[in-house]
Amino acid sequence: MSQARHDELSTNLDDVRRRVAAACAAAGRGSDEVSITVVTKFFPASDVRILAGLGVTDVGENRHQEAVEKSAECEDLGLRWHYIGGLQSNKAAAVAAYADVVESVDRPKLIGPLARGAEARGRPLDCLVQVSLDPPGTQHRAGVLPDDLTALAAGVAGNEFLNLRGLMAVAPLGEDPRAAFDRLSVIVDRFRADHPGASVLSAGMTQDMEEAISCGATHVRVGRAVLGERPTIK
Ligand SMILES: *Cc1c(COP(=O)(O)O)cnc(C)c1O
Repeated sequence: MSQARHDELSTNLDDVRRRVAAACAAAGRGSDEVSITVVTKFFPASDVRILAGLGVTDVGENRHQEAVEKSAECEDLGLRWHYIGGLQSNKAAAVAAYADVVESVDRPKLIGPLARGAEARGRPLDCLVQVSLDPPGTQHRAGVLPDDLTALAAGVAGNEFLNLRGLMAVAPLGEDPRAAFDRLSVIVDRFRADHPGASVLSAGMTQDMEEAISCGATHVRVGRAVLGERPTIK
């Protein structure tokens, strides 16, 4: 293990933990109400190993091939692996083999393959439904549209091999994240009326974790602030 990399990650992680604690305090919430998932995409298994040694328990990945290899290399660490990326239905069963949580369930077509994968591994899979925060009328990227959330959430909740744990969202680029997370709060309130036990709200990344925490996030997904800038894909 590189001592320099260890020290860098340790310092960065301390900074992020302080940011989260300060944001919780500012929002009148306890700092134990918000968990940090460190997004390790593009970074090697050796970094994941360092993070585990620094007390990280949850890591996030967004590309299947990379995640499958890294989670196998790090099997001895006892980490919880969150799959946070776009999901093809023909890969979903394979993701369920190593993921502890799939945060990016955004269409009914994923339910069957995720459930098959969970059944094959012999334990239910924790799922978050990813909801789109793209302003109405703009181009829609990942996430179920708020109008279609009720049906999708009911489909996940009704499957015996899937556990509906809550919602995930990403603030759209080019908009004040607070406005997006305010819309999210309204969506979350309606969602929890139907699913009171599904209390997870995964929102907030390096750039907007403070705004997300003030709007009720229970989990933040932080990459760059801990690991540094990712290599750009050519
Ligand atoms: C990459 C990614 C993150 C982490 O983003 P940073 O800006 O590096 O903190 C969080 N959530 C999702 C869905 C991502 O793809």
